[in-house]
Amino acid sequence: MMGFQFCVLGSGSSGNSVAFWDSETAFLVDAGFSCRETARRMGQAGLDPESISTILISHEHSDHIGGARVIQKKFSPRILTTFPVNRWLDAKFGIATEPELEPDIPFKLGNFTVTPFEVSHDASQTVGFTIAKGTARVAMATDLGHITPGLERHFAGADAIILESNHDVQMLKEGPYPAFLKKRILGKQGHLSNVQSSEMLVNIVGERTRHVTLAHLSQENNKPDIARDEAGKALSSRKNIEIVPASQFDIGNIIKVR
Ligand SMILES: [Zn+2]
Ligand SMILES: [Zn+2]
Repeated sequence: MMGFQFCVLGSGSSGNSVAFWDSETAFLVDAGFSCRETARRMGQAGLDPESISTILISHEHSDHIGGARVIQKKFSPRILTTFPVNRWLDAKFGIATEPELEPDIPFKLGNFTVTPFEVSHDASQTVGFTIAKGTARVAMATDLGHITPGLERHFAGADAIILESNHDVQMLKEGPYPAFLKKRILGKQGHLSNVQSSEMLVNIVGERTRHVTLAHLSQENNKPDIARDEAGKALSSRKNIEIVPASQFDIGNIIKVR
């Protein structure tokens, strides 16, 4: 009764969305896939799109909000985000949302306590989230350029961690992206590399941590095996942690958090 479940519906530059639910409440973090695709993926996870009460938005990049307007129109969830992102959504889509989220201020969502926290990324404001119910807790951030002071405490000891592992630095440097894009991705407000992600994982996994999802893997500049191996090496002393690279094409397993 106390626990909850989540399913990464997909993660990558073409879309990001994670569903969380317990017996009473269901919500999404980000809605980067089309309404139709989101509904299809939720169906695969055994979820009714009508059951979604809320969509939490991390930031305004299209891979996180692409389906939000149509999903809201069709299934009427409220869309909650921070003040700067809310202004952006309102100007662009006319989606007024209340209440506005504030970094480091927890709020209640059914039986869940959700706490946004700010990360370094090139949107008007970008947040990660901790999602807790009772003593069970998931921490997630899918777009961040580097590890800012205080960031790790939000993740420390969570039961499950969803963390960006965007690129292999070598592949990115030698790959086909134009120089400006390479610079953006490698920059402090860009995306987290496999090495950065692994270094952070070492500091944040705790006794209770059982599951790590590597998120927002680049199609061009990463491979699931490379990302998993890098994280696996870093966490080699912890055999009881499952490490799963997320896909932008397929949903992940349904993860039960006690
Ligand atoms: Zn982004
Ligand atoms: Zn993104």
